Amino acid sequence: MHIKIPQIAVPNFWLGNLGGVDNYLRHRLHKGALGQFGASSLGYPLHVVEYPHEGAAKFMVIGGTHGHEPGGVASVMNLIHLLETGRDLAGQPHDRLLELAGSLHLYLVPCLNPDGRSVCPDSFYCQGLDTTSAYASGIQKNGDLVPYDADSEEPCYYFDPADALFVGGQFNGAGWAINRRLSDDHSEAVEVQSLLEFVQGPGVQAAIDLHACGYNFAFQVRSHEAPYWPIMREWQSRAEFLFRSKDRVLGKLHGDGDPPTPPSFFFNSALLHQHAQLMYMAYEGRQGYLGRTSFMPLPTEWEIIDDYLTAIQVFLELGVEEHYARANEEVFG
Ligand SMILES: [Zn+2]
Repeated sequence: MHIKIPQIAVPNFWLGNLGGVDNYLRHRLHKGALGQFGASSLGYPLHVVEYPHEGAAKFMVIGGTHGHEPGGVASVMNLIHLLETGRDLAGQPHDRLLELAGSLHLYLVPCLNPDGRSVCPDSFYCQGLDTTSAYASGIQKNGDLVPYDADSEEPCYYFDPADALFVGGQFNGAGWAINRRLSDDHSEAVEVQSLLEFVQGPGVQAAIDLHACGYNFAFQVRSHEAPYWPIMREWQSRAEFLFRSKDRVLGKLHGDGDPPTPPSFFFNSALLHQHAQLMYMAYEGRQGYLGRTSFMPLPTEWEIIDDYLTAIQVFLELGVEEHYARANEEVFG
């Protein structure tokens, strides 16, 4: 079935559209090397852009795990453009971020879940109705939402696409929830499993996964061992300072405690941490959609992207200072 996706006009720098991303990656890279670590369940290429730096520590930035969160994709594309030209796609400089990024070996994944991205609009901004839930979950044939967050003992890990008009951005095209697992053995989502296999090779020290269900907050790495917890608290402290200096709010570190309570199921963070022996953090930026008072005042698209770039800046700063390397060494030897 063909689903018509309403496309809201977005600024050019809000580059979250699959076709636009693909076009940029194929024609506008001069410094970064375009690679592919697999294909999605619907056959979209899984792109990674590598910025090699001889002898430097390696880090990864991941956008588009959830298809209804275009801001993460747009932010990775703005980071790529910054590395290519010295400015983001809106023409703005980010001097400290550029300096840090230029000293490191980076792997940038603009969109981990292109299947999910392909069924969602590029923006929910100014749509007037809050349609994000519908695109995040998908719609069953009877008109109900796909029960992604059903009030049951077990959340939804899989929904048969044959029983839906479409499965939403939380899923890949085969119906697997992209970011939750019953075990940390492997992922049934081919995109996540392909990423895992890719990242085990080059020795990446840490990854940051960009999401957008909330209002600027990061998660404590609850599935990681104790040496990693202070790193997130340090990230929080530095990020809070930067957000405050821009007159923006950063929520408290989600799930932190003494000790933090582990989540009741496994996220990609646990999977990649265990198998690729790296630190895996998740940051939730602003979605920018109407309809929920908790998202007021509405940020501009550029502010949303600047929030993500700020989060990445602190992530890389801690990498330069070898926080992740020390924790990885302590835990994995
Ligand atoms: Zn998300």
